[in-house]
Amino acid sequence: MKKGWEAVIGMEVHAQLATATKIFCGCAVATGGEPNAFTCPVCLGLPGALPVLNQNAVALGARAALSLGLEIQETSIFARKNYFYPDLPKGYQISQYDKPFSANGILTILTAERDLQGHPVEWKPMTIRIERMHLEEDAGKNVHEGLPDDDRFSYVDLNRAGTPLGEIVTAPDFRTSWQAYDYVNHIRRVLQWVDASDADMEKGNLRCEANVSVRRVGEATFNNKVELKNLNSVRFMQKAIEFEIERQIAAHEAGEFVRQETRLWDEKNNQTRIMRSKEDAHDYRYFPEPDLAPLKITPDYVETVKASMPELPDAMRDRFMAEYRLSFSDASQMVTEKSLADYYETAAKSSGNPRVSANFILSELLRELNNGSLTAASSPVSPENLATLIRTLDKGEINNNQAKEVLVEMFANRKSAAEVISEKGFEQVSDSSIIEKIVDEMIGTNPDQVNAYRAGNEKLFGFFVGQVMKASQGKANPKVVNEVLRQKLSSV
Ligand SMILES: [Zn+2]
Repeated sequence: MKKGWEAVIGMEVHAQLATATKIFCGCAVATGGEPNAFTCPVCLGLPGALPVLNQNAVALGARAALSLGLEIQETSIFARKNYFYPDLPKGYQISQYDKPFSANGILTILTAERDLQGHPVEWKPMTIRIERMHLEEDAGKNVHEGLPDDDRFSYVDLNRAGTPLGEIVTAPDFRTSWQAYDYVNHIRRVLQWVDASDADMEKGNLRCEANVSVRRVGEATFNNKVELKNLNSVRFMQKAIEFEIERQIAAHEAGEFVRQETRLWDEKNNQTRIMRSKEDAHDYRYFPEPDLAPLKITPDYVETVKASMPELPDAMRDRFMAEYRLSFSDASQMVTEKSLADYYETAAKSSGNPRVSANFILSELLRELNNGSLTAASSPVSPENLATLIRTLDKGEINNNQAKEVLVEMFANRKSAAEVISEKGFEQVSDSSIIEKIVDEMIGTNPDQVNAYRAGNEKLFGFFVGQVMKASQGKANPKVVNEVLRQKLSSV
């Protein structure tokens, strides 16, 4: 950013709550069906149809709110947000206005500026104020292509109408595009973590908008802000914000007026372009929804939801660092996804070796999972099986390279560690009576070297180890070989 300027960015994220049915009716929340297949009089907005609140939408909303540090309000009120659009048959959206479901959130995220290659420079904690997360229904979709005569007609598909959303609104606390980027990634991960939302931007079940303005450093007032919409990925969002910051600074410096407007990210030309002016902004004429009672949430309910939630990723990362002595970077990588974190914890406990478990998971296992587009939850090698392999390695029965080879084979053919070790002939001979025999033979066939060693040439020890290993075809346990050799060579 140009010196002397700062950006002021606020974020609005719509997260689709992962319910099986819609927020005010029993229609399925599903994609891929025939247009308007998942509809009923309520979500079609037919006269006289009455909405009934889906309890699971409230439960998932509560999980989402708590995972973002928000306070769930004792009473929230659904309100009608009036506007006309073909994909909104009622002529209003049921949302919440001055009494939202949750408010006053304080969320700590980790954020880092990036170098020219896009690598994080230094992760630092940052506290964000989340003003609110309210519950609302989604609208349907207007379809302009892929159907007959689409050069002449547009279509309306109401399958999405009535899908439950949580709209998460922050204070204008972000100062750089990367902070906004790290925030959205944080939200995405944490909502997935607590099973509140699939939070997949590509599938449209997490949508974000950024409000961006700039001002000279030290200025307390806000200039006109631009709303950025239709951001299909976190990376496009970051680029759009970055472009917008530079565009607005240049405009202010040239003495031009920055208009309050909505802009889109134009991926082809790498720039934002105007969608509509905000000067004709809607007055939504919110008023309380007469068909729904105020939503009352008791402290007991909040406690029950809290008790059912898993440990959150940041807490888990800190615990992995304290309990298993992982580095910040390794622990952070381990909590990128809940199934991976759970996998690690099981393997660490079951193997009794958290450090080596982390090494195998972060290198070998993740590589194999990525190659197969799998998650830790669907890994062909269970954490218990990996732990068995690590214990075998710890006992010295196989070496590190062999263990890696065994893991790849376990992964490819869904076999146990023991099976692969025996197939590959990696089983080490630790039986000292067998090794003693080999050592005796070796001593018999190398009398000159043995005499030289006994006369003080200790460098020959390595040679003897080599001979014994060779005679055992590499299967002798090196620890036992060393012990037996020392004992036999010292006794004349
Ligand atoms: Zn319906």
